[in-house]
Amino acid sequence: MKTTKLTVLMAAALAITAQATIRETNSLRDVANAATTGSFVAFDLDNTLIEPIQTLGSDQWFEHISKQLGIDGAIALWSKVQLKTQVRPVEQTTSSIVREIQDRGVPVIGLTARPLTVAEATLQQLASVGIDLSRTTPIFDDLAFPGHLENAQYTQGIIFAGKNQKGDMIVRFLDRTGLHPSVIVFADDKPKHTASVDSALTAKGINNIEFRYGAADERVKAFDAEIAAVQLHYFDGILDDEAAATLSNR
Ligand SMILES: [Mg+2]
Repeated sequence: MKTTKLTVLMAAALAITAQATIRETNSLRDVANAATTGSFVAFDLDNTLIEPIQTLGSDQWFEHISKQLGIDGAIALWSKVQLKTQVRPVEQTTSSIVREIQDRGVPVIGLTARPLTVAEATLQQLASVGIDLSRTTPIFDDLAFPGHLENAQYTQGIIFAGKNQKGDMIVRFLDRTGLHPSVIVFADDKPKHTASVDSALTAKGINNIEFRYGAADERVKAFDAEIAAVQLHYFDGILDDEAAATLSNR
Protein backbone atom coordinates (compact mmCIF):
# COMPACT_ATOMS: atom_id res chain seq x y z
CA MET A 1 0.00 0.00 0.00
CA LYS A 2 2.79 2.39 0.97
CA THR A 3 4.68 1.53 -2.22
CA THR A 4 1.62 2.31 -4.32
CA LYS A 5 1.17 5.69 -2.65
CA LEU A 6 4.85 6.46 -3.14
CA THR A 7 4.68 5.49 -6.81
CA VAL A 8 1.67 7.76 -7.32
CA LEU A 9 3.48 10.64 -5.59
CA MET A 10 6.61 10.09 -7.66
CA ALA A 11 4.56 10.01 -10.88
CA ALA A 12 2.84 13.23 -9.85
CA ALA A 13 6.18 14.90 -9.09
CA LEU A 14 7.53 13.82 -12.49
CA ALA A 15 4.43 15.16 -14.20
CA ILE A 16 4.87 18.53 -12.53
CA THR A 17 8.54 18.78 -13.53
CA ALA A 18 8.06 17.72 -17.19
CA GLN A 19 8.73 20.58 -19.59
CA ALA A 20 6.02 21.04 -22.18
CA THR A 21 5.29 23.68 -24.78
CA ILE A 22 3.09 24.01 -27.85
CA ARG A 23 4.59 26.32 -30.44
CA GLU A 24 3.15 27.68 -33.66
CA THR A 25 5.20 27.54 -36.86
CA ASN A 26 4.88 27.45 -40.64
CA SER A 27 8.39 26.10 -41.15
CA LEU A 28 9.63 22.55 -40.62
CA ARG A 29 13.06 24.12 -40.05
CA ASP A 30 11.88 25.10 -36.55
CA VAL A 31 11.07 21.45 -35.83
CA ALA A 32 14.51 20.39 -37.06
CA ASN A 33 16.14 22.99 -34.80
CA ALA A 34 14.33 21.53 -31.79
CA ALA A 35 15.36 17.98 -32.72
CA THR A 36 18.62 17.94 -30.82
CA THR A 37 20.69 14.89 -29.86
CA GLY A 38 18.80 12.73 -27.36
CA SER A 39 15.42 13.82 -28.67
CA PHE A 40 12.84 11.73 -30.43
CA VAL A 41 10.76 13.15 -33.28
CA ALA A 42 7.24 12.23 -34.36
CA PHE A 43 5.66 13.70 -37.48
CA ASP A 44 2.04 13.78 -38.50
CA LEU A 45 1.77 12.94 -42.21
CA ASP A 46 -1.19 14.70 -43.89
CA ASN A 47 -0.70 18.47 -44.24
CA THR A 48 2.52 18.15 -42.24
CA LEU A 49 4.85 16.08 -44.46
CA ILE A 50 2.69 15.37 -47.52
CA GLU A 51 -0.46 16.48 -49.33
CA PRO A 52 -2.14 15.25 -52.53
CA ILE A 53 -1.20 17.14 -55.70
CA GLN A 54 -4.90 18.05 -56.18
CA THR A 55 -7.85 18.94 -53.94
CA LEU A 56 -9.37 15.43 -54.10
CA GLY A 57 -7.86 13.22 -51.42
CA SER A 58 -6.73 16.10 -49.21
CA ASP A 59 -7.38 16.24 -45.49
CA GLN A 60 -9.61 19.29 -45.99
CA TRP A 61 -11.66 17.28 -48.52
CA PHE A 62 -11.91 14.48 -45.95
CA GLU A 63 -13.28 16.95 -43.38
CA HIS A 64 -15.80 18.15 -45.96
CA ILE A 65 -17.10 14.70 -46.97
CA SER A 66 -17.23 13.45 -43.39
CA LYS A 67 -20.03 16.01 -42.82
CA GLN A 68 -22.01 14.35 -45.63
CA LEU A 69 -20.99 10.69 -45.34
CA GLY A 70 -20.19 10.34 -41.65
CA ILE A 71 -16.75 9.37 -40.42
CA ASP A 72 -16.73 5.75 -41.65
CA GLY A 73 -18.12 6.60 -45.08
CA ALA A 74 -15.57 9.38 -45.42
CA ILE A 75 -12.68 7.10 -44.39
CA ALA A 76 -13.76 4.51 -46.99
CA LEU A 77 -13.91 7.05 -49.84
CA TRP A 78 -10.76 8.89 -48.73
CA SER A 79 -8.88 5.56 -48.56
CA LYS A 80 -9.95 4.64 -52.10
CA VAL A 81 -8.51 7.92 -53.37
CA GLN A 82 -5.22 7.36 -51.48
CA LEU A 83 -4.59 4.21 -53.54
CA LYS A 84 -4.42 6.36 -56.68
CA THR A 85 -3.35 9.84 -55.78
CA GLN A 86 0.11 11.28 -56.14
CA VAL A 87 1.39 13.46 -53.31
CA ARG A 88 3.86 16.31 -52.90
CA PRO A 89 5.81 17.47 -49.86
CA VAL A 90 4.06 20.30 -47.94
CA GLU A 91 7.19 22.50 -48.18
CA GLN A 92 9.85 22.26 -50.90
CA THR A 93 12.40 21.46 -48.22
CA THR A 94 10.27 18.92 -46.29
CA SER A 95 12.04 15.76 -47.47
CA SER A 96 15.56 17.14 -47.07
CA ILE A 97 14.75 18.38 -43.54
CA VAL A 98 13.43 14.95 -42.51
CA ARG A 99 16.60 13.35 -43.92
CA GLU A 100 18.77 15.91 -42.15
CA ILE A 101 17.21 15.02 -38.78
CA GLN A 102 17.66 11.32 -39.52
CA ASP A 103 21.31 11.91 -40.55
CA ARG A 104 21.94 13.30 -37.05
CA GLY A 105 20.96 9.85 -35.75
CA VAL A 106 17.80 11.21 -34.12
CA PRO A 107 15.00 8.61 -34.02
CA VAL A 108 12.10 9.71 -36.22
CA ILE A 109 8.65 8.16 -36.59
CA GLY A 110 5.35 9.02 -38.25
CA LEU A 111 2.24 9.37 -36.07
CA THR A 112 -0.83 9.46 -38.28
CA ALA A 113 -4.59 9.11 -37.92
CA ARG A 114 -4.56 7.20 -41.22
CA PRO A 115 -6.03 3.71 -40.89
CA LEU A 116 -3.81 0.65 -41.22
CA THR A 117 -5.63 -0.31 -44.43
CA VAL A 118 -3.74 2.39 -46.35
CA ALA A 119 -0.30 1.51 -44.90
CA GLU A 120 1.12 0.26 -48.18
CA ALA A 121 -0.19 3.23 -50.18
CA THR A 122 1.18 5.56 -47.50
CA LEU A 123 4.67 4.05 -47.70
CA GLN A 124 4.60 4.41 -51.49
CA GLN A 125 3.44 8.03 -51.25
CA LEU A 126 6.23 8.89 -48.81
CA ALA A 127 8.82 7.06 -50.95
CA SER A 128 7.66 9.03 -54.00
CA VAL A 129 8.77 12.27 -52.29
CA GLY A 130 11.99 10.80 -50.89
CA ILE A 131 10.86 10.20 -47.31
CA ASP A 132 11.67 6.90 -45.58
CA LEU A 133 10.50 6.97 -41.96
CA SER A 134 12.02 3.53 -41.31
CA ARG A 135 15.58 4.94 -41.67
CA THR A 136 16.07 5.83 -38.01
CA THR A 137 13.16 3.94 -36.55
CA PRO A 138 13.97 2.93 -32.96
CA ILE A 139 12.37 -0.48 -33.51
CA PHE A 140 12.26 -2.71 -36.58
CA ASP A 141 9.47 -5.11 -35.67
CA ASP A 142 5.82 -4.33 -36.28
CA LEU A 143 3.83 -3.65 -33.12
CA ALA A 144 0.09 -4.27 -32.88
CA PHE A 145 -1.97 -2.10 -30.54
CA PRO A 146 -5.42 -3.57 -30.00
CA GLY A 147 -7.88 -0.75 -29.39
CA HIS A 148 -11.46 -0.38 -28.30
CA LEU A 149 -12.21 2.02 -31.17
CA GLU A 150 -9.92 0.56 -33.77
CA ASN A 151 -6.76 -1.54 -33.84
CA ALA A 152 -3.64 0.50 -34.38
CA GLN A 153 -0.26 -0.66 -35.61
CA TYR A 154 3.30 0.48 -35.80
CA THR A 155 4.96 -0.57 -39.03
CA GLN A 156 7.96 0.68 -41.05
CA GLY A 157 8.50 3.68 -38.81
CA ILE A 158 4.86 4.80 -38.70
CA ILE A 159 2.15 4.51 -36.05
CA PHE A 160 -1.17 4.12 -37.86
CA ALA A 161 -3.39 5.34 -35.03
CA GLY A 162 -6.72 5.34 -36.86
CA LYS A 163 -9.40 6.75 -34.57
CA ASN A 164 -7.27 6.38 -31.43
CA GLN A 165 -5.96 9.48 -29.67
CA LYS A 166 -2.44 10.30 -30.81
CA GLY A 167 -1.42 11.10 -27.24
CA ASP A 168 -2.50 7.63 -26.05
CA MET A 169 -0.72 6.00 -28.97
CA ILE A 170 2.65 7.64 -28.38
CA VAL A 171 2.53 6.72 -24.68
CA ARG A 172 1.62 3.11 -25.52
CA PHE A 173 4.44 3.06 -28.07
CA LEU A 174 6.98 4.25 -25.47
CA ASP A 175 5.69 1.72 -22.93
CA ARG A 176 5.96 -1.15 -25.39
CA THR A 177 9.42 -0.22 -26.69
CA GLY A 178 10.89 0.84 -23.33
CA LEU A 179 12.29 4.01 -24.91
CA HIS A 180 13.15 6.95 -22.62
CA PRO A 181 13.91 9.95 -24.83
CA SER A 182 15.03 13.11 -23.02
CA VAL A 183 12.50 15.09 -25.03
CA ILE A 184 9.86 14.29 -27.63
CA VAL A 185 9.31 16.70 -30.49
CA PHE A 186 5.99 16.38 -32.32
CA ALA A 187 4.64 18.31 -35.33
CA ASP A 188 1.02 18.26 -36.50
CA ASP A 189 -1.25 20.69 -38.34
CA LYS A 190 -4.25 19.92 -36.09
CA PRO A 191 -4.45 21.58 -32.64
CA LYS A 192 -6.45 18.62 -31.23
CA HIS A 193 -3.49 16.30 -31.92
CA THR A 194 -0.78 18.61 -30.56
CA ALA A 195 -2.98 19.06 -27.45
CA SER A 196 -3.52 15.32 -27.00
CA VAL A 197 0.20 14.50 -27.35
CA ASP A 198 1.16 17.39 -25.08
CA SER A 199 -1.18 16.33 -22.26
CA ALA A 200 -0.43 12.59 -22.53
CA LEU A 201 3.36 13.06 -22.44
CA THR A 202 3.24 15.69 -19.73
CA ALA A 203 1.09 13.36 -17.59
CA LYS A 204 3.74 10.68 -18.17
CA GLY A 205 6.50 13.05 -17.00
CA ILE A 206 8.19 13.17 -20.40
CA ASN A 207 9.58 16.47 -21.66
CA ASN A 208 7.87 17.41 -24.88
CA ILE A 209 7.72 20.15 -27.49
CA GLU A 210 4.78 20.30 -29.88
CA PHE A 211 4.63 22.32 -33.06
CA ARG A 212 1.22 23.31 -34.40
CA TYR A 213 2.42 23.38 -37.97
CA GLY A 214 0.62 25.72 -40.35
CA ALA A 215 2.38 25.53 -43.73
CA ALA A 216 -0.75 24.04 -45.35
CA ASP A 217 -3.21 26.39 -43.60
CA GLU A 218 -3.74 28.64 -46.63
CA ARG A 219 -4.61 25.69 -48.86
CA VAL A 220 -6.96 24.30 -46.20
CA LYS A 221 -8.72 27.69 -46.06
CA ALA A 222 -8.94 27.85 -49.86
CA PHE A 223 -10.61 24.41 -50.08
CA ASP A 224 -13.08 24.32 -52.97
CA ALA A 225 -15.71 21.58 -52.63
CA GLU A 226 -16.80 21.95 -56.24
CA ILE A 227 -13.30 21.25 -57.57
CA ALA A 228 -13.15 18.10 -55.46
CA ALA A 229 -16.63 17.04 -56.61
CA VAL A 230 -15.63 17.28 -60.28
CA GLN A 231 -12.40 15.40 -59.57
CA LEU A 232 -14.36 12.69 -57.81
CA HIS A 233 -16.74 12.46 -60.75
CA TYR A 234 -13.79 11.83 -63.10
CA PHE A 235 -12.01 9.73 -60.53
CA ASP A 236 -10.64 7.03 -62.85
CA GLY A 237 -8.01 9.52 -63.86
CA ILE A 238 -7.73 12.38 -61.37
CA LEU A 239 -8.16 15.79 -63.00
CA ASP A 240 -5.89 18.59 -61.91
CA ASP A 241 -7.54 21.67 -60.36
CA GLU A 242 -7.37 23.70 -63.55
CA ALA A 243 -9.12 21.05 -65.65
CA ALA A 244 -11.77 20.58 -62.96
CA ALA A 245 -12.40 24.37 -62.81
CA THR A 246 -12.84 24.42 -66.60
CA LEU A 247 -15.28 21.48 -66.49
CA SER A 248 -17.28 23.09 -63.72
CA ASN A 249 -17.92 26.00 -66.17
CA ARG A 250 -16.35 28.81 -64.19
MG1 LIG B 1 -2.46 16.30 -40.41
